Amino acid sequence: MIQITSPSDCCGCTACASVCAHNAITMQPDALGFLYPTVDTDKCTECGLCEKVCAFHDKYDKSLNLPEPIAYGARHKRAEEVETSRSGAAFIAMSDYVLQRGGVVYGAGYTDHFRVTHKRAVTKEQRDEFKGSKYVESDLKDTFRQVKEDLREGLTVLFSGTPCQTAGLHSFIGDKLRANLILVDIVCHGVPSPYIWRDYIKQLEEEKKGKVVYVDFREKQQCGWRAHKEAFRFEGCENEKVIRGSFTYLFYKHIIFRHSCGACKYTNLQRPSDITIADFWGWEKTHPTINADDKGLSLVICNTGKGEQLFEAIKEEMNVIPAKIQDCMQPSLRHPSKIHRKREDFEFDYMHKGFTYVMKRYGDMGWRYQVEKHTAKIIRAIKRTFGKK
Ligand SMILES: Cc1cc2nc3c(=O)[nH]c(=O)nc-3n(C[C@H](O)[C@H](O)[C@H](O)COP(=O)(O)OP(=O)(O)OC[C@H]3O[C@@H](n4cnc5c(N)ncnc54)[C@H](O)[C@@H]3O)c2cc1C
Ligand code: SF4
Ligand code: SF4
Ligand code: SF4
Repeated sequence: MIQITSPSDCCGCTACASVCAHNAITMQPDALGFLYPTVDTDKCTECGLCEKVCAFHDKYDKSLNLPEPIAYGARHKRAEEVETSRSGAAFIAMSDYVLQRGGVVYGAGYTDHFRVTHKRAVTKEQRDEFKGSKYVESDLKDTFRQVKEDLREGLTVLFSGTPCQTAGLHSFIGDKLRANLILVDIVCHGVPSPYIWRDYIKQLEEEKKGKVVYVDFREKQQCGWRAHKEAFRFEGCENEKVIRGSFTYLFYKHIIFRHSCGACKYTNLQRPSDITIADFWGWEKTHPTINADDKGLSLVICNTGKGEQLFEAIKEEMNVIPAKIQDCMQPSLRHPSKIHRKREDFEFDYMHKGFTYVMKRYGDMGWRYQVEKHTAKIIRAIKRTFGKK
C-alpha cells in the first residue's frame, strides 16, 4: 500500500485513492490544507495497485510524446476572451472545440466561498468558471473517477490542470481509454496553501466589513498582463475593485507551496500532457509587436500527435506565430522552484500562532517587511551613488 515517507514525494494527484477498489484511501488535509492519501488498513487487501499507479517520479509515461515538442505564440481573436483569461485564452479555444462536439471539459473552478476545486462542464457557461489562474492547490475530489466514467460512455474529455494532475490522470486512465482523453497542462511554478487562501479572504472580509463576492487572482484589465495583483469585490460595493498583493507576495516567496513543488518531476519539456499552455514570457524574441498592448499572449506547446491535431483544428480561432522552443524557455520549464528555507517555520507558526502572526512575520503586513523594504532602498541608493563616483 502507498506510504508517504516524505511529504515532497506526493503531489496529491488522487490517482492512488481513485484506483483503490476497496475505497481504502482517503485524501486528508495537512496543517496548511494540502491533501495527502491516508490508508484505512482494515479495508486494504495489499493488492499494490495504489503504488503502481503513482506517477510522481522521473519515469512517468512519456511514450506518446513527439521527439521534439512544437511551440507557438497564440492569442484568441475575440478580445473579450483574452480580457477574461490569464494569458491569450488558448484554453478557451481548445475547450470550445471540445464542447461544440458534445464533449466534456474539466478544470479548476470554485466551491464553498472561493475554495478552489476541479469541476465538470458540458456548457460554455459552466466552463467559463475555469478561466483564469487560481494560485491555490485545486481539490480534485472524485474527478479522476468521473473522467473514467465519461470515457467509458464514449465521450471526448478535455482535462486541464497542473502537470502532476495530468500525469496522475494519464496513469490512472491507462492506455485502453486514453484515445478520447485530451490532457492540457499548464507550465507550473507551484501551488500555494488552501488554508492560507481561505484565511486571507476571511481577513479581507473583516477589514472591509463585507462578504467577498468576486475574486481575480491576477487582475489584468487595470494592471496589465505582466503585473501580478489580486482583485476583489465586496457585497454592497460591487462596482469597486479592491486591488491587493499580500497573497501574491507569499506566492513569490515560495513559502506557502506544497512540499512536492520543490521536487517537481515535470519542470521540463517532456510534458505529461497533449498540450501545454503558459504565459509567453520573452515573446519579444519571437515577434516584436504581437503583445505590445500587454493584453496577454499564450505559449502553446504541442507535445503529442493528438495535441498537434487539436491545435491545427483551433488555429483559425487565434492569431498564431510559430516559435522556437529555445526562445520560450522560462524557469518553470528548466527546474523546480526553490522552496523558501523557512517553509517549515511558517507551517509551525501557522499551526501554533495563527494566520495574522504568519502574515506579519513572513508576509508584507508587518514591521519586518517595512525594514527589509527600506534597507533594500538604502542599499540601492548607496550603489547608485558609488556607481556615479
Ligand atoms: C498554480 C499555477 C502556477 C502557474 N505557474 C506558471 C508559470 O510558472 N509560468 C507560466 O507561464 N504560467 C504559469 N501559470 C499560468 C498558466 O500558464 C495560465 O493559466 C495558462 O497560460 C493558461 O492561460 P489561458 O489564457 O490559456 O487560459 P485561462 O483561461 O487562464 O485558463 C486557466 C486554465 O488553468 C487551469 N487552472 C487554473 N487554476 C488552476 C489550479 N489551481 N490548478 C489546476 N489548474 C488550474 C484551468 O483549469 C484552466 O485550464 C500558472 C498557473 C497556475 C494556476
Ligand atoms: S494496496 Fe490495494 S487495497 Fe490497499 S490501499 Fe492500495 S489499492 Fe487499496
Ligand atoms: S502522488 Fe498521487 S498517486 Fe502518488 S501518493 Fe500522492 S496522491 Fe497518491
Ligand atoms: S510544481 Fe509540480 S508538483 Fe507542484 S503543483 Fe505544479 S506540477 Fe504539481
